Amino acid sequence: MRLLQEPSITKCKMKDSVGYIHSFNSLGAVDGPGIRFIVFMQGCPYRCPYCHNPDTREFSGGIPYSPLQVADKAVRYRTYFGEKGGVTVSGGEPLCQGEFVAELFKLLRSRGINTCLDTAGIKPDKAVERVLEHTDTVLCDIKFPTEEMYLKRVGGSLKNTLEFLRLCNKMGVNVIIRHVVVPGMTDTEESILAIKDLLSDIEYEKIELLPFRKLCTQKYKALGIEFPLKDTPECSKDTIKKLKALL
Ligand code: SF4
Repeated sequence: MRLLQEPSITKCKMKDSVGYIHSFNSLGAVDGPGIRFIVFMQGCPYRCPYCHNPDTREFSGGIPYSPLQVADKAVRYRTYFGEKGGVTVSGGEPLCQGEFVAELFKLLRSRGINTCLDTAGIKPDKAVERVLEHTDTVLCDIKFPTEEMYLKRVGGSLKNTLEFLRLCNKMGVNVIIRHVVVPGMTDTEESILAIKDLLSDIEYEKIELLPFRKLCTQKYKALGIEFPLKDTPECSKDTIKKLKALL
């Protein structure tokens, strides 16, 4: 597994005028409020052991689109969005293509469409600020409760993610925290309480606990890479229910 010690936006930034896109989902129901058009960006500097989209991680590849092309594509589905829905940009790590996402969100908002960013967070810079200027909701994954675990298991920095969340607060962007519960890794009361603790100075709407699933196993096989959690059991509904009670 490739580990990056301190990923930063300069390491992962791609060309700004176009976005390199892995795929689209025209009607998603689990990535942000309501029914949404989802844009999966290509490229991610992290390597979460439970990653569901390993095919979006390499920075090579992806299909180039202009922000206008994507906005036009998404707008066709607006009748399905209802009051709460809209467009979510996910990945990969969408903030690695911050200028593109900022332009896309600006265009969408000018057409009255709600915008949502699904991210693991990166160290904030001007491009990140530009994205947040045009973002209604941020879905931010907190992967593990300590900096050491981030470095070892994700190849990222928890500090950067927390700094990103503080910027979301400062800029008045609604924040929803998400956390994947992995048996044997993060399924203890201590782990969940530690995550709640480290968010003590951050405002957020809620914390969503997501059970670890292995639906991605085939993707790893197709890519010819080992799924690091192939022998880990899926997380049960009971565990999620028990841990949710702590929040
Ligand atoms: S941040 Fe998302 S896309 Fe990147 S490795 Fe982690 S789960 Fe996969």
